[in-house]
Amino acid sequence: MRIAVISAHTSPLARPGGNKAGGLNVYVLELARQLVARGCNVDIFSRATQRDMPEITQIGPGLRAIHLRAGPARNLSPESVHKRLDAFTDAVAAFAAHEDATYDLIHSHYWLSGLVGEQLKARWQIPHVTMFHTLGEIKNRASLSEHETDLRIDSESRIIAGADRVICATEAERTLIRRLYHAEAGKVSVIPLGVDLERFRPADQEAARHALGLNGERIILFVGRLEPLKGIDILINAAATLESDVDCSVLIVGGDESSRVQVDRLRGIARSRGIEDRVAFVGAVDHDKLPLYYNAADICVVPSHYESFGLVAVEAMASGVPVVASRVGGLMGTIKDGETGYLIPWLCPEPFAERIELLLDNEPLRRNLGEAAREAVGRYRWENVAAAVLSVYESLTNPTPQLAAAGS
Ligand code: UDP
Repeated sequence: MRIAVISAHTSPLARPGGNKAGGLNVYVLELARQLVARGCNVDIFSRATQRDMPEITQIGPGLRAIHLRAGPARNLSPESVHKRLDAFTDAVAAFAAHEDATYDLIHSHYWLSGLVGEQLKARWQIPHVTMFHTLGEIKNRASLSEHETDLRIDSESRIIAGADRVICATEAERTLIRRLYHAEAGKVSVIPLGVDLERFRPADQEAARHALGLNGERIILFVGRLEPLKGIDILINAAATLESDVDCSVLIVGGDESSRVQVDRLRGIARSRGIEDRVAFVGAVDHDKLPLYYNAADICVVPSHYESFGLVAVEAMASGVPVVASRVGGLMGTIKDGETGYLIPWLCPEPFAERIELLLDNEPLRRNLGEAAREAVGRYRWENVAAAVLSVYESLTNPTPQLAAAGS
């Protein structure tokens, strides 16, 4: 099967943890690898954001990242990318025509790519599978100050109406997609995101700390993009109220040059709370190197205002590290409060501090929660996830005779 993957606004080759790249990029690339391992041929199309980007990058046999010019070769806001989508769609179609390539199915990621997928479906007359990763309407209901545009929400409604299948990561999201966007029941499939359980696994903590040059104090870890929605201020304020005598530091992994304002803001909070020397900003870490950080940590905190899935929580759980997370979005499905981690229903520092303290002071509790977490993550194994995605593709490209008749 030959798949055209559309990730218009961000490249699968972008480094996760910076401002513009995170869970979506990790997922798109890894899913593609998994599909190729199952005999598919995958081209991932993105808008070129650098002048010197080669048009074709062969990631491996049967897997290419294709960066096409549409508008200025730099990062643009979603609204500016939206203005270039027609040009981008033309570029994808021209690329395929030039290679004389035909695809069996389009898989788009995020609303901007969904709009491209919709147009390509009409041109190529092939099925379109879409994943939003986050939806504007859901984000608006969950978040503090940012407001997603009507353009995004109207586009999402249109994409859902026109797509052959919408894949979302949780049952809760399927319910919201049905309620807020009026999607037909049969159109939405729930398939969790995958996590590499070989890469993220329990390992010797001392060795990981040694490799990172960390000393013996307890480590409270945050991993992710440094944006307000991630609630890192809650973690810093929580760390400032800890009464435990145990020495600990907060390691914040993520962020790049474009995160300066956020880092300054968070450093300011740490300074004003008198814990500046206990909060370290590590910057983005290559995905391959992240296991060291999880393995070095005693606790991973995910204080997000919203997460549609929350890969970091599952990566930490897979590493056997207890997670203290907000009780929001996908985190409610991945963590069982009190059994495989802690879920905090209030987005304020004190309840986070209480759970962090409990864990800091109690090594057997950390071990038990960590072990239970590792056992609970089997369902996110890539083999299962990729097989489920492939079976959606197959149901659309080879519909059974009865279904085909019903659809015609
Ligand atoms: N990540 C990474 N390096 C970093 C920070 C994050 O590789 O420095 C990865 C992390 O391992 C995870 C993804 O980025 O796979 C973040 O996904 P998540 O679902 O937690 O958040 P999102 O970015 O989708 O909001």
